[in-house]
Amino acid sequence: MPALFIGHGSPMNAIEDNEFSQSWQELGKKLPPPEAILCISAHWETNGTFVTSMENPKTIHDFGGFPKTLFDVQYPAPGSPKLAARVRQMISTTDVGLDETWGLDHGAWSVIKHLYPAADVPIIQLSLDHSKSPQYHYDLAKELKVLRSQGILILGSGNLVHNLRMISWEHADQYEYGYDWAIEANEKMKQLIEQGDHKSLIDYQSLGKSVHLAIPTPEHFLPLLYILALKGNDEQLSFFNDKPVMGSLTMTSLQIG
Ligand code: ZN
Repeated sequence: MPALFIGHGSPMNAIEDNEFSQSWQELGKKLPPPEAILCISAHWETNGTFVTSMENPKTIHDFGGFPKTLFDVQYPAPGSPKLAARVRQMISTTDVGLDETWGLDHGAWSVIKHLYPAADVPIIQLSLDHSKSPQYHYDLAKELKVLRSQGILILGSGNLVHNLRMISWEHADQYEYGYDWAIEANEKMKQLIEQGDHKSLIDYQSLGKSVHLAIPTPEHFLPLLYILALKGNDEQLSFFNDKPVMGSLTMTSLQIG
């Protein structure tokens, strides 16, 4: 199975018909049908590492200030306690806990809803341990690689450039507006991804001012490290939705394989 990093952007992408949601729909039709999805979302940070293991994960509306129509969205995809148990077993980096309380946060459902509108592919989420280093996350992700040959689609959901405090509201309706530093940081990261220089990306805090502004907190960036860690040496890599929005976000996404 390919592995995906998807820039999810605004939760409104869940219900808007725009170029990003359309590209997710197209992608869902092109990918080989997965047995199940393992999602690493920017929006599930925990102390310790957990996988969701309930039969029926609830749709979590983990945001505020959006229209009621967005809060009304339900995405009733099943979970997979079996896959959760398998993931728990295969990871030796740390003890993975089975979680019965989370569900699907908007980092997962706002995107997957477009990939698989029928909600018929089982999904589990793997949390981000906020106490750990980028290297830890990269190493843990390596242990998930075998799932790709077992029909599991591994999806990282975040954003390469994600600085909510610097969002330009006056450009909210112009999709393709990015601050100079946002574009610079995005290009720098893309170049390192293309060069396979994962080491520099793991050490992103040394990449200079533009990347510093692009990644004020790590949670939207770390899902990218999970996906890079899954890449085989001679595998193809392609970017899509490679656009800035609202000044300080980029939707740049990546398919491996
Ligand atoms: Zn987000």
